[in-house]
Amino acid sequence: MNKHVILYKKLSAPLMERLQAQAEVTLIEDPKTPDGLARLRDALPHADGLLGASLKLDAQLLDLAPRLKVVSSVSVGVDNYDIDYLTGRGILLSNTPDVLTETTADTGFALIMATARRVVELASMVRDGQWTQNIGPAHFGTDVHGKKLGIIGMGRIGEAVAQRGHFGFGMPVLYHSHSRKPAVEARFDAQYRSLDALLQEADFVCLTLPLTAETEGLIGAEQFALMRPETIFINIARGKVVDEQAMIEALKNRQIRAAGLDVFEREPLPADSALLQLDNVVATPHMGSATHETREAMARCAVDNLLSALAGERPKDLVNEKAWSSRQA
Ligand code: NAP
Repeated sequence: MNKHVILYKKLSAPLMERLQAQAEVTLIEDPKTPDGLARLRDALPHADGLLGASLKLDAQLLDLAPRLKVVSSVSVGVDNYDIDYLTGRGILLSNTPDVLTETTADTGFALIMATARRVVELASMVRDGQWTQNIGPAHFGTDVHGKKLGIIGMGRIGEAVAQRGHFGFGMPVLYHSHSRKPAVEARFDAQYRSLDALLQEADFVCLTLPLTAETEGLIGAEQFALMRPETIFINIARGKVVDEQAMIEALKNRQIRAAGLDVFEREPLPADSALLQLDNVVATPHMGSATHETREAMARCAVDNLLSALAGERPKDLVNEKAWSSRQA
């Protein structure tokens, strides 16, 4: 019997052709609309594989898919999935690490530069015809080079941000992570800090860790209180790692200098969000990995993982190893 795959993200024509050569494909481009969700629910009973991103796939939904063998996420973050549930059912979950690391780190650095040098605010001033005289201290920014870069979550993306900061901008690197990273310390002359010490010391605090039960709300009022009026806060991880209301207060009260944010508690960020009223916020639309090259590489990687799983092979980027072992038993 032909394998049946549900795509909830559109693929490029070459990838679609590759997938269609090996499986029957149902494309649902709008799974977050009531109509799209209804079509997804109708298709799930026949699905052997799912491929997509940015959709919460909970147990209630996946209970409709008794044949499901693999969920191939076009993302590195896997916070949209109930991993215990998938593993319990022996469903493989794969993601797309590595291919997006450098691009996401570029986004992190874009936010560092944009916030420190007030690029968005000042460029808007020029565009609005408000540049009528030489700018003075009221419009000055702050230096990036030579400042202390604090990275929370020294994994693939954290390391790529550290590389940019250390080699490109001569920034002393501080980091906090689950475990010490001797290779990173040697390569970037990086120093390990407790979370509190890093928040107190770093000029730029950059979040690059996953959203998990442990990290949800990790940065709240208490943590913002440890930062300094010069601190610039960057989040390219996940919105829910931060208590957004506490961050808004810290920004309003100038407890911290500015924030560069690619991710939010609610996405898309509502147009009436208080964050958008603040001139010391640069907000981008969860665009960490959003370049043509990287999004195609991620999709290719997700298709490879899906096809491996459907062929009974271990996907290269398997998240839940236990599901694979249970299938082999
Ligand atoms: P990764 O290689 O797994 O790195 C994550 C790091 O976070 C690991 O080094 C881990 O430490 C550390 N960590 C985990 N929980 C922690 C905790 N409670 N306290 C301190 N450190 C903790 O993942 P990655 O590829 O760099 O991606 C990181 C995250 O970035 C993803 O999960 C995703 O949510 C986000 N992301 C966002 C975008 C975007 O568009 N903005 C794009 C890509 C990824 P150990 O190594 O010590 O375990």
